[in-house]
Amino acid sequence: MSKKYRVGILGATGTVGQRFIQLLEDHPQFEISALAASDRSAGKPFAEACAWKLAGSIPEYVRDIAVQPIKPPLDCDIVFSSLPSSVARETEEAFARAGYSVISNSSSYRMDEDVPLLIPEINADHIGLIDAQRERRGFDKGFIVTNPNCAVISIAPPLAALHRKFTVESAVVTTLQAISGAGYPGVASLDIFDNVVPYIAGEEPKVETESQKILGKLSEGAITYADFALSAQCFRVPVIDGHTASVRVDLKEKATLEDVVEALVSFPSLNLHSSPERFIEVTDEPSRPQPRLDRENGNGMTITVGRVFPDNIFDYRFVTLSHNTVRGAAGAAILNAELLIDRRII
Ligand code: NAP
Repeated sequence: MSKKYRVGILGATGTVGQRFIQLLEDHPQFEISALAASDRSAGKPFAEACAWKLAGSIPEYVRDIAVQPIKPPLDCDIVFSSLPSSVARETEEAFARAGYSVISNSSSYRMDEDVPLLIPEINADHIGLIDAQRERRGFDKGFIVTNPNCAVISIAPPLAALHRKFTVESAVVTTLQAISGAGYPGVASLDIFDNVVPYIAGEEPKVETESQKILGKLSEGAITYADFALSAQCFRVPVIDGHTASVRVDLKEKATLEDVVEALVSFPSLNLHSSPERFIEVTDEPSRPQPRLDRENGNGMTITVGRVFPDNIFDYRFVTLSHNTVRGAAGAAILNAELLIDRRII
């Protein structure tokens, strides 16, 4: 049997941390060897520290692990970080400097010029930034890579598919984001029941800039961002999991509706353990995608696109959906780690 890498989870008791624990149970390449969270949790067995919110009980294999503080050393080779950005920057740097491979969900380093912001199917080559990062920051063995914001993962894949074939000139995006995206306890029930909230702190600038970095080109140790404008409005809606986005897009090259659908469905998936069979699935059911019905597509790793039509003002419009705590968080970070092992960076 091939070697299993020992992983530590920073923010293990949180919404994304719990998803890591669920997804890593029985993973062929990783075994959890350390869990860390805030001072409130440190020192307690995980089962006592964690308010478990996923279906089923806390997996037996982590119940008795003692939660540690979020500082090195931790008994592991790889660190998955799902910390709030308020503490992520300093903590992730400390782990990378201490020689750990740091794979982060937080926004803290996503837009740093020497940090890969990865969606493996789209920009696996951006791991080439790691050499420049080590040199610039004086990291020896360690490094930081990130995955996108949980709403960006709904929109960047279809935009990438269209950009490669027809060059995206501009896009207007409206997101409808699930409450689990705000962590736990997150949005107060009195704010979100019977309601839609047209504001998510700090979200619109992330949605407006991360796709251009992801779709950018790496050359001579730097990324040139994709050159299109994107305008975003972000809404919190009373859905537990699954971020939906309505997208309108202008394309430079002429494309028929069939061309657009073909570009989306033919975008290749990878052959990593957590890769879904289809990276992007297109449905022609008039009322799909819907979070409750489509978020588990491809074990939560497929992006589901529907309502693809020519638009009266833009060239095309469509609706896209992904699972925010799987493809938009823990599953994304695990896929990044699988990619880094496959490319012999780890
Ligand atoms: P969460 O449910 O609030 O969990 C936060 C975790 O961080 C908990 O384990 C908490 O530990 C720990 N923590 C909080 N403050 C800390 C501190 N000062 N020092 C040490 N540990 C601390 O949040 P989440 O939704 O899992 O999000 C975690 C990160 O992932 C955030 O950066 C978020 O933006 C990002 N993210 C979230 C999603 C999503 O869909 N939820 C998607 C993509 C990215 P205690 O339990 O001990 O307090």
